[in-house]
Amino acid sequence: MNSDLEEMLRLIDKLETTRDLTDEEFEKVLLCEDPAFSGELSARARKVREGIYGKEVYLRGLVEFSNFCKNNCKYCGIRRDNKNAQRYRLSEEEILSCCDMGYELGFRTFVLQGGEDPHFTDERLVPLIRKIKENHPDCAITLSIGEREKESYRKLFEAGADRYLLRHETADKAHYEILHPKEMSFEHRMQCLRDLKEIGYQVGAGMMIGSPCQTTAHLIEDLRFLQDLQPEMVGIGPFIPHHDTEYKDQKAGTVDMTLRLLSVIRLLLPQVLLPATTALGTIDPMGREKGILAGANVVMPNLSPSAVRGKYLLYDNKICTGDEAAECIRCMTMRVQKVGYQVVTDRGDHIRFKK
Ligand code: SAH
Repeated sequence: MNSDLEEMLRLIDKLETTRDLTDEEFEKVLLCEDPAFSGELSARARKVREGIYGKEVYLRGLVEFSNFCKNNCKYCGIRRDNKNAQRYRLSEEEILSCCDMGYELGFRTFVLQGGEDPHFTDERLVPLIRKIKENHPDCAITLSIGEREKESYRKLFEAGADRYLLRHETADKAHYEILHPKEMSFEHRMQCLRDLKEIGYQVGAGMMIGSPCQTTAHLIEDLRFLQDLQPEMVGIGPFIPHHDTEYKDQKAGTVDMTLRLLSVIRLLLPQVLLPATTALGTIDPMGREKGILAGANVVMPNLSPSAVRGKYLLYDNKICTGDEAAECIRCMTMRVQKVGYQVVTDRGDHIRFKK
């Protein structure tokens, strides 16, 4: 074995035992394209994940309940200024029936995701969350509906929401300000994450890999931020351009960089819930399987009604927009099995939150 590779393998040992590296070492790990190194990095991440969660893969039923959005994030296909997006909003009955169908299919977590739609006030969301919990008391509810005030987060938590996904998108303020319009604030996004933690949610942060102007130094800042926040979940996936945004001609993030980051995050935060995302499955037909083999332990099949699936388009060529929920879960179960893991009917809480 050459000495460079030996040195790189020592970095994996160090990362696993100390859960830390210097910036220079992180940079070497993120930039190393030697397949022998990547193979060892993902094998180590798998071992750590199996030590905690075994071979189980947790399911989340994703209900994309509205694509109305008051924000204008430059990378996102459902940004306010995209006049070509066909807007839709599910009714309370439709959302409840997605959850009922999901329950039958074996889902025990429902993720309600949407744009920042002003229609969904606390007065509308609180009874909705209560009803889902009444109908399915053994299920967890995850919200992914963007930035709100702390009081609102508290009301939704008290109504029964268990988890909240709010990707930080980038931990670098200047980079954040490139990706977002002036009216959005880096400080407010960070404040939201701290508020969510304080209230008691299982919190998910995360970033896109390969977003416009992102550097390796930014990714290292993201890792430092995750070390500091200690989120229960981390959602990462490649940036993929959307044809109706100013980033339409930008390059997408790569599979390899996303996989290296999944493994590094597994070693940094061994207990974290880490999804193999739809975006990863979009840039590579085997992306989600590769994600699981790199240390991911969650998949999020789509539960949205087929009539609206083709409208929740954050980026181009999104997969599974034509399938029925039952088909999605059948396909996911098989894909997971093929790489030696097993989808389970379980809430799939973070180990610190297990009852
Ligand atoms: N409105 C909610 C949900 C956003 S959608 C919120 O603000 O949290 C979920 C995630 O999709 C975003 O956080 C972003 O990281 C990701 N996303 C948006 N546009 C994308 C693109 N073009 N490529 C890849 N991921 C994208």
